[in-house]
Amino acid sequence: MNKSDFVTRISKVAGALTMAGKDLLLVSPGADLRYLIGYDALPLERLTCLAVNAEGRSWLIVPKLELPAAMASGVADIPVQLLDWEETQNPYELLASEIGQIKAPIANNLMWLEKAKFLGNAFGVELELANELLSDLRLVKSSFEIDALHEAGHAIDRVHSSMEKWLKPGRTEREVGRDIAAAIIQEGHVTVDFVIVASGPNGASPHHELSDRVIGLGDPIVVDIGGTMPSGYCSDSTRMYVCGQPPADFLEKYEILKVAQQLAFEQAAIGVTCASIDSAARDYLSANGLGEFFIHRTGHGIGMDTHENPYIVQGNQEVVRSGFAFSIEPGFYIPGLYGARIEDIVTCEDGQVKSANNTSHDLVIL
Ligand code: ZN
Ligand code: ZN
Repeated sequence: MNKSDFVTRISKVAGALTMAGKDLLLVSPGADLRYLIGYDALPLERLTCLAVNAEGRSWLIVPKLELPAAMASGVADIPVQLLDWEETQNPYELLASEIGQIKAPIANNLMWLEKAKFLGNAFGVELELANELLSDLRLVKSSFEIDALHEAGHAIDRVHSSMEKWLKPGRTEREVGRDIAAAIIQEGHVTVDFVIVASGPNGASPHHELSDRVIGLGDPIVVDIGGTMPSGYCSDSTRMYVCGQPPADFLEKYEILKVAQQLAFEQAAIGVTCASIDSAARDYLSANGLGEFFIHRTGHGIGMDTHENPYIVQGNQEVVRSGFAFSIEPGFYIPGLYGARIEDIVTCEDGQVKSANNTSHDLVIL
């Protein structure tokens, strides 16, 4: 990222504010803040907040002790007015007095309620949600961002490719998960965002993480892993493993799932609705007796957050555009028995939909 990208993003916010009839956007630490100014701020009880008005003027208020970290992230190079506050000052009042009269401020959706209340009090007007204002900007990725997602995809693929080193019968999910987490970092991520190792019946819970269950021979194992790269962009990929021979009825279902995932991938194209991609996987699973066991949406957008717009879900009539990036991850979850999911991140650019994850979809037998 360079300085001009951030300048462009701030000016897009100003334009969107004007269009929405709002006069100020307040942004707390998290991916929204990092997207707009490149500052990966800690979400602390002390106030750190970016404000952008409809004229494109911006302010960043940080606690004095966070100022060196903010400067190190390069915010001094972009035209944002820096304010710092000392422990005995009221940062909310300080920010409001710098900005002056505001009539219709909005806050990023993930701002803590406490911060939103105190900011609203300081401005003397209740904050409303930014709703889609920021997610609409983040929805369409630049080629820099698409490349960053592919780089993240390669990194997580390398972890999946080495799974035989860690995934062994007799080890617990937690032991395996610890090794996978270390590998996620070793392969280039700066944080481990999640490690799911769901063996046997644990696989029937889509977001089971790790437990002390000992992995047994023949247990189908869902491994869904992801982290954040130095670029700020995230990886997320699921593959299926088994030590020894899986049950025959599992194999049958798994072949159906592979086709469903492929059908959703083939459906994904510029100009189709998000709902139609979900239908491609769901209809096939339903036609083959697995519909009732596919208990989540087919996918989610991904970028600086692992889950963001667009959601690949029934009812979402959003049309896929160049710059979209999202997961395709159908699954089936049979309570008491096992579960399965196959997940790739795909990106749309230059009229093409490409997978950022390229390890085989076959059940990996270890
Ligand atoms: Zn996912
Ligand atoms: Zn995942």
